[in-house]
Amino acid sequence: MLETEIVETNLERESTLNARIPSDPIEQQWDKCRFNMKLVNPANRRKHSIIIVGAGLAGAAAAATLGQQGYHVDCFSYHDTPRRAHSIAAQGGINAAKNYRNDGDSIFRLFKDTVKGGDYRAREANVYRLAQISLNIIDQCVAQGVPFAREYGGLLDNRSFGGVQVSRTFYARGQTGQQLLLGAYQALEEQIAAGTVTMHTRSELLDVVIVDGRARGLVTRHLPTGRLECHAADVIVLATGGYSNVFYLSTNAKASNCTAIWRAHRRGALFGNPCFTQIHPTCIPLSSEYQSKLTLMSESLRNDGRIWVAKEKGETRAPNDIPENERDYYLENRYPSFGNLVPRDVASRNAKEVCDEGRGVGPHGQGVYLDFADAIQRLGLETVREKYGNLFEIYQRITGEDAYQAPMRIYPAPHYTMGGLWVDYHLMSTIPGLFVSGEANFSDHGANRLGASALMQGLADGYFILPCTVPDYLASTKLDPVDISHPAFRSVEAEVRTRIKALVSIKGKRSPDSFHKELGKIMWDDCGMARSDAGLRKALARIPELRDEFWRNLRIVGGDDELNQSLEKANRVSDFLELAELMCVDALNRSESCGGHFRVESQTPEGEAKRDDANFSYTAAWEWKGLGQAPILHKEPLTFEYVPLSQRSYK
Ligand SMILES: Cc1cc2nc3c(=O)[nH]c(=O)nc-3n(C[C@H](O)[C@H](O)[C@H](O)COP(=O)(O)OP(=O)(O)OC[C@H]3O[C@@H](n4cnc5c(N)ncnc54)[C@H](O)[C@@H]3O)c2cc1C
Repeated sequence: MLETEIVETNLERESTLNARIPSDPIEQQWDKCRFNMKLVNPANRRKHSIIIVGAGLAGAAAAATLGQQGYHVDCFSYHDTPRRAHSIAAQGGINAAKNYRNDGDSIFRLFKDTVKGGDYRAREANVYRLAQISLNIIDQCVAQGVPFAREYGGLLDNRSFGGVQVSRTFYARGQTGQQLLLGAYQALEEQIAAGTVTMHTRSELLDVVIVDGRARGLVTRHLPTGRLECHAADVIVLATGGYSNVFYLSTNAKASNCTAIWRAHRRGALFGNPCFTQIHPTCIPLSSEYQSKLTLMSESLRNDGRIWVAKEKGETRAPNDIPENERDYYLENRYPSFGNLVPRDVASRNAKEVCDEGRGVGPHGQGVYLDFADAIQRLGLETVREKYGNLFEIYQRITGEDAYQAPMRIYPAPHYTMGGLWVDYHLMSTIPGLFVSGEANFSDHGANRLGASALMQGLADGYFILPCTVPDYLASTKLDPVDISHPAFRSVEAEVRTRIKALVSIKGKRSPDSFHKELGKIMWDDCGMARSDAGLRKALARIPELRDEFWRNLRIVGGDDELNQSLEKANRVSDFLELAELMCVDALNRSESCGGHFRVESQTPEGEAKRDDANFSYTAAWEWKGLGQAPILHKEPLTFEYVPLSQRSYK
């Protein structure tokens, strides 16, 4: 309980953080900032080396663009090809304020929706820039040949996502992430062929090397052989994705983990809002305790699917036998303006509430119906199949049920992490020369991310922001030549080796997965959809005990100088066991409710999240002080000049 007690003694620092937000009117900030940035002469670019870790949408976009500019780029991924990055799983779509539907959309409306959707815990300047750049992203991707869905006349089609009243989501059936990633991958491959980008697949970052206070390199493990390698560069970019797998069960790819950002955090990068995680309302419910993965059913389904449960508890009839007047379309009833398209946090909490009341459906009562009967009647079976066919097929393959005939069963599941490494307006962390993009940074989404805006952010960061801010850093910083013979590399490599040897030599009885599963349950129960002071304190007492046992009783099969997936997992779980504690410390400190962070002590009489703007209108950025030591809280105050603070309402 060390951490909790120390947080209460208020070991916090007034902000020394400089977010480098331009002082111009918000509409002009990014353009003026870009104009004032320094440029690198094309002939000098090849003299600069840039390391990008991650080849998902955020990393591949940045690597391709910086490579095209002429920099010498090394790109790392633990996958065997960039095409396997978790981004490929994204289903529903990507937002952009193109206003093709002429339904009242604009940059300002996307900006406002995102600030409000994030429950006023995001930085206004970043969100405005994101909305501005959203227009360029679609043009860029169309130029690459990304096959966005089109209307009959050939124009790009749009659909709606939660928390908004316009149609601004561009999509490629239920495979938007895959198609966007293929676009970014092609651009990356072009640069690999041109010799500007060198791709290092199956190489996992295990530590960051700091020289004279600046990020100058990495230590990686070559997964097929276990060989440790050092790499030096002028700038490092982490685009390593999110950490929802701290919950063990999540919609993320099984391999997604926090190691890159956590190791950077241990080297001095502050961690922003670690407790801000998103629980997605429409996932296939858990069916067995042996399950190791949860599957998303895209939010786009809420465009046409209607969510309901029976009005009475303990209903046992099949859904199609329950008459209309005995059904409770609870989102439509409680939130008439937004109905089934309320934001994810609101939809998830409501699903939990009706299940907690005993009205849940399915074998464990942990589910609600998502029903397409009306849509099929209104639009016809073929139209519904065209729009959502592959999602219905995923559902059918996993559950064995035909959602064209009977409603789907859905339940909330961990899905996305709004927290991540703190970055300034230039996307640079508190370690000079270490930039962070995509889901890995603490991002533009505040306490709740609106659907279809992660792809938008990852591509804005990768195609448009880093290609300006990284060159500006290079042009305005005097960097002494550093190579891997520098003693800092030897010392970090030795630390990495010691940690790996320590893991392999424990030779206890429990597998990495068994620790991960137990940690996930603690986090789901006490730092999941609803959090309380008592629950968080319980978790904070239990996590260090579990971590101690991990270091005493872990069993890894095989050695460290070979392909060893058991070791890879253990290494990642060792980081989750530290990150989980920081998430609970952050959640305990933030005694308000906001967005996906629902503190049961802080709710409105109607049971909605109740913010405490007087005390918590800030980004929490935590500083690592060592294992078992209390982290220090730095606060970046948030001001809302353009979207005035108000209680969110979707009624
Ligand atoms: C099922 C699902 C559906 C989704 N649908 C949508 C959607 O419709 N719209 C939307 O906007 N968002 C969606 N999201 C969210 C979105 O897909 C992700 O937030 C986004 O793709 C993350 O991209 P990224 O580039 O930041 O990270 P990732 O795609 O996760 O890529 C991470 C990269 O980093 C590498 N890496 C990580 N750690 C290391 C390390 N230590 N060493 C070396 N390499 C490392 C990996 O190999 C990988 O290449 C969805 C998410 C899920 C789970």
